[in-house]
Amino acid sequence: MEYGDLLKIAKTYGDPVYVYDSEKIISQFQRLTHAFGSVKKLKLNYAAKALSNITILRLMNNLGSGLDTVSIQEVKLGLLAGFKPESIIFTPNGVSLEEIEAAAALGVRINIDNLSILEQFGSKHPDIPVCIRINPHVMAGGNSKISVGHIDSKFGISIHQIPHLLRIVELTNMNINGIHMHTGSDILDIDVFLYASEILFETAKNFKNLDFIDFGSGFKVPYKEGDIETNIEELGKKLSSRFNSFCKQYGKELTLAFEPGKFLVSEAGFFLAKVNVVKQTTSTVFASIDSGFNHLIRPMFYGSNHEIINISNPKGKERYYSIVGYICETDTFGSNRRINEISEGDILCFRNAGAYCFTMASNYNSRFRPPEVLWHNGKAILIRERETFEDLIKNQVDVKDLFPTQREKVVAK
Ligand SMILES: *Cc1c(COP(=O)(O)O)cnc(C)c1O
Repeated sequence: MEYGDLLKIAKTYGDPVYVYDSEKIISQFQRLTHAFGSVKKLKLNYAAKALSNITILRLMNNLGSGLDTVSIQEVKLGLLAGFKPESIIFTPNGVSLEEIEAAAALGVRINIDNLSILEQFGSKHPDIPVCIRINPHVMAGGNSKISVGHIDSKFGISIHQIPHLLRIVELTNMNINGIHMHTGSDILDIDVFLYASEILFETAKNFKNLDFIDFGSGFKVPYKEGDIETNIEELGKKLSSRFNSFCKQYGKELTLAFEPGKFLVSEAGFFLAKVNVVKQTTSTVFASIDSGFNHLIRPMFYGSNHEIINISNPKGKERYYSIVGYICETDTFGSNRRINEISEGDILCFRNAGAYCFTMASNYNSRFRPPEVLWHNGKAILIRERETFEDLIKNQVDVKDLFPTQREKVVAK
């Protein structure tokens, strides 16, 4: 999509606004499918938490994707979007037995990540097959907040606990149909990923009735021109060949599963916001936008670098700016960025705004969450409306009798 299309969308739907390009989502899905082309049974389960708009979920379902979910609400969203229960996998972390049972009752596949719940679930429901999440203790991922497979991580069942795990499976007579790992986001080193996969294969040999092995996700996408990214094609070649030979050894054609979130939707997303004020201080030129970390928290939360483009003046002279929000705390989107000259009223475009952007948005400072627009076949389609004041107060209980104003007291008399 072109800057002109984005500008038109900002004009039509107002700003700030999130825009998603379906073509990019589709091409990323096909690229990943193609990279693992030599695997007979491949299943991509889109990680809903990255971008959970119901129309996006429908698009994924149409592409033939399954759905990776982390809460019972995401499971229900997936069912509402038309996914068959068996195409949904529930991969929560530290949730209650009741929530897992609720998901199982809806017929979705269950992934359990700790021995306590495994034992309780297996004792009560030995007939429901379960996938187990293994922690291979491999340090991977872009930073400590998104690296989830290391030794101190809360995620998964440690490989050192396999003997205990096997004992539980034997005593409860439960059926393990899959094994899973998810080592973190922003993995760059393919060899680290392959090393973790070996641990998974080794673990898999303990179970006789597997249907699938799920390698999680964590593919790094480029955040700017020339940025490093996971070499999906090389990973596809190496892991596929290793997987195929494992299946021969195992004696069954297993399904190779992945749960990509960021890889499928990050680059498809654009966040558009207007510049309210250009402010020159003694040291810096600030451009303050009509948004803040209430709408896009990743730069402040993870130190993520989102490329920022002035789409109102893409050919203007470049100058250095710090782009900040309107929240009454420091909310810097980018410091000392070279951007085409900014005037008040210009629309700035934040790239890589598809994954973990809208889904992490909040109402902080009592602001409305922005609308979402899908760009599909050259047309803009509204897929979420901007919130209104009614949305903000909908669930609040205004107990007037408790603290009436002077005027209300008078009226009551
Ligand atoms: C978040 C998550 C994913 C998706 O990770 P990305 O880095 O967005 O691809 C996959 N699997 C599980 C279990 C997750 O929690």
